[in-house]
Amino acid sequence: MAVIGIDLGTTNSLACVCQNGKPVLIPNPLGQVLTPSVVSMDEDGRILVGSVAKERLISHPEASAASFKRYMGTNRVFMLAGQEFTPQELSSFVLRQLKEDAERFLKEEVTEAVISVPAYFNDHQRYATKEAGRLAGLHVERLVNEPSAAALAASRISGEEEGSYLIFDFGGGTLDVSVVDYFDNVIEIIAVSGDNRLGGDDFDEIIARRFCSLQQMNYDDLDSFQRYSLLRLAEDCKRKLTGQNEAELLWESEDKRITLTNVELAELCQGIFDRISQVISAALRDSGRTAGDPCQVVLAGGSSKMPVISFYLQTFFKRKPCIIASPDEVVAMGAGIYAGIKERQEDIQDLVLTDICPFTLGTDVVNRSDTDNPILSPIIERNSILPCSKTQYYTNSYNGQSHISIGIFQGEAYYCRDNIKLGAIEMDILPLPAGQAHIEVCFSYDINGILEVEVTDHDKKQIRKKVLTSDCFRMSESEFNTRLEALQTYKLMPPGGIRTRLVLARGERLFAQLLGPRRQLAADAIQKLQETLLTQNDQQIINCLNTTQEIFDQLEGL
Ligand code: ADP
Ligand code: MG
Repeated sequence: MAVIGIDLGTTNSLACVCQNGKPVLIPNPLGQVLTPSVVSMDEDGRILVGSVAKERLISHPEASAASFKRYMGTNRVFMLAGQEFTPQELSSFVLRQLKEDAERFLKEEVTEAVISVPAYFNDHQRYATKEAGRLAGLHVERLVNEPSAAALAASRISGEEEGSYLIFDFGGGTLDVSVVDYFDNVIEIIAVSGDNRLGGDDFDEIIARRFCSLQQMNYDDLDSFQRYSLLRLAEDCKRKLTGQNEAELLWESEDKRITLTNVELAELCQGIFDRISQVISAALRDSGRTAGDPCQVVLAGGSSKMPVISFYLQTFFKRKPCIIASPDEVVAMGAGIYAGIKERQEDIQDLVLTDICPFTLGTDVVNRSDTDNPILSPIIERNSILPCSKTQYYTNSYNGQSHISIGIFQGEAYYCRDNIKLGAIEMDILPLPAGQAHIEVCFSYDINGILEVEVTDHDKKQIRKKVLTSDCFRMSESEFNTRLEALQTYKLMPPGGIRTRLVLARGERLFAQLLGPRRQLAADAIQKLQETLLTQNDQQIINCLNTTQEIFDQLEGL
């Protein structure tokens, strides 16, 4: 039975299967391999996933959701047409769509998948990802780290089995830079660094702001609808600049237009380049390497396609980055190759996919200036090699203190409240003058994500221990089954009419965005298409879909 590899991205998701040892990307009903990670609910309560849902973000924002991967493993809920969904439930719709697409492509049932996740995903986020898989009817035994998948793809596709890699993964809203070694069939992540608020979206905003300043408009005064609409056009303009040196942005009416070149864009992006340079430098620093050390710089993520980015990297590393495939497909290919390895049950025991702790683990200490707001005291720092055991010493904070509570936190933030609380150990201690108690706290974290915390009070000679596994936050089996049943009542849009749905959704989006005569053109095209659909004449419908698409392309200047 086929095992598929899935890149469940913040912006786009892809599925890949290994055929005759080669990764093959699976097309969706629109014939594209990238499915936007956007979910929308239509008037009939049916779930739309991908491009159609993305169109509806503008025309039906209250029934659509995007970027939910950012909130995996948190309590955040999203509303779709008045109904609540968790990030893993929304992700499960995307996975269900990919699973159905794969089944159609492979003409067999698919029940098992390998899903890639960012290397820095914590236990909650990893668990939520597996849960999303289960809710989609997929057994997910293995998650693979995105940089490991990219390195695997790079080595297999370039035909060089071994080497050091720097994976530069620049997506829609996140930048992840990882140093990965692949030697002796072991993939080892040496260091990860990132900026989870830096991605393709930032270029869209820079272009939109540029448009506003040249048009004597104030970007910050735009309402959310106008802003989204302009950002979308800015994204189109940005994409055009990948294939050509100059592109135009035309908004609402003929007189509102600007042109932009790659050279101008690079000038506007100095701030972004500085942030990129900080992330790369941090990854190099944490891995003990320098930009000059031999390693392949692998481009991953859609934003790596931008000429300004590859040029910047070439300047930074003083060599050409390596493009093994279209950057937005690299992680999925690696996940697919990994799925193939799993399917063939090859010897993968020694293929260690990570042995670092991607986040800091620590405890809380008193904040003298604001006693209600304790500070994180790091014990095991991020990028520590696993298994890892570290000890820190603490004392009592006031005279005669007879009880301590040792909080256990995960995260990088200064204040404990901004990190994830994993648990706490309570302990009565010998009352002593402030600063005289001897409290030892030892954290041991193993390769399976099991954290053992041991607190020793040397004065009273007592020890308290706590073992934390990622199970702590799981839904009970019955809660899970209730949700699974509820989700199964939602049906995905069948593949048949998907192109029509997309063209209509795009028309509605354009109608919402445009003004004046161009808006009327969009309205007329929708009307014409709807009339043609009533004829039920397949050839006429296809012809009409083609002309409508051309009209829309023209309206969008594509
Ligand atoms: P994620 O990993 O966040 O799911 P992707 O790797 O699919 O995302 O990257 C999505 C981002 O890549 C978006 O910001 C999109 O605008 C950008 N992108 C995709 N194709 C191009 C292109 N040809 N030129 C410039 N940017 C692109
Ligand atoms: Mg990605």
